[in-house]
Amino acid sequence: MSRLDIFIDRMVSQRACLDHAARMTDTLSGPVFELGLGNGRTYHHMREIMPGREIYVFERAVASHPDSTPPDERLILGDVRETLPAALDRFGPNASLIHADLGGHNLEKNDRFARLVSPLVEPLLAECGLMVSSDRMYFDTLEEIDLPEHAVKGRCFIYRR
Ligand code: SAM
Repeated sequence: MSRLDIFIDRMVSQRACLDHAARMTDTLSGPVFELGLGNGRTYHHMREIMPGREIYVFERAVASHPDSTPPDERLILGDVRETLPAALDRFGPNASLIHADLGGHNLEKNDRFARLVSPLVEPLLAECGLMVSSDRMYFDTLEEIDLPEHAVKGRCFIYRR
């Protein structure tokens, strides 16, 4: 499988999982969290499919497309190892949907980071809330659920409280 194939599978999976998770959580009132803004493509998509919902973006250094940059009051700037614990104090266990795409090209490093942030993400999710991730996460209290049609196994993961 080429790197192009892997990239396409990741993009298709992100869209399929985000569309699915947005529908499944549309009756929940809590905020939506985007972990890792990057270019802002997934944030832009989340805004399109969830126009009425509050989306907060966690990012250490903003470098997104101008069309895909959150307003200052919805940006939580800093390293997620510090901003996620602070978000629990600010928002409580009320996030309706959390999307994480924090990794880079090094799969081993991504996995180590996913293990590290899993316990910081876990307490933020509301009852029946969903967490969509490009990396496998390591949760004690969230269950992994089946992927929607078009998502590619191993390229995206969905967890539910
Ligand atoms: N989903 C994005 C998109 O569609 O454009 C791409 C996200 S990019 C793969 C990963 C982002 O996560 C980068 O912008 C990086 O700065 C951010 N990131 C990685 N580790 C982080 C950390 N510890 N704290 C905050 N942001 C982090």
